Amino acid sequence: MDLKKHIAIVEDWPKPGIKFKDITPLMNDGEAYHYATDQIVEYARKKDIDIIVGPEARGFIIGCPVAYSLGVGFAPVRKKGKLPRATIDVDYGLEYGKDILTIHKDAIKPGQRVLITDDLLATGGTIEATIKLVEELGGVVAGIAFLIELTYLEGRSKLDGYDILTLMEF
Ligand code: IMP
Repeated sequence: MDLKKHIAIVEDWPKPGIKFKDITPLMNDGEAYHYATDQIVEYARKKDIDIIVGPEARGFIIGCPVAYSLGVGFAPVRKKGKLPRATIDVDYGLEYGKDILTIHKDAIKPGQRVLITDDLLATGGTIEATIKLVEELGGVVAGIAFLIELTYLEGRSKLDGYDILTLMEF
């Protein structure tokens, strides 16, 4: 299936010069969403995954149906202040300034094999921070899956040594 035809490219959004890749047409289409999910499920089955971890908000959209299909759990990574119980935190760089990502301390048990999911790999900063959270809790990052990789931003260089699946490249 040609998944790219379900990605809308929005010029100059959220600011001038950016060509935003909008995944909502893919999510709106049951067949395309199912197909994309199945590709990631197939990848995850080979990796003996115990739990899926995804950063808000689009990491949930990709990761939750995969978790359901595998019959494993899902742990959300959220911006600081959104999770109600004890968390560990990590700072990560944004284009301007920085932000903090958090995960519940009891979300992952040491030694669990984790698949990280997100919609899109850009500079890699979000997933680099997510990896730090998983590893601080003793999780093993067995794989990382994205719908889209923006190859020209070379985010992969931040994720050296990790196994990565991307379904589309721009
Ligand atoms: P990174 O941290 O630079 O790799 O940025 C990745 C994060 O930014 C992901 O969580 C994406 O949801 C979001 N993002 C960046 N660019 C786009 C885009 O063009 N479309 C959708 N999400 C994007």
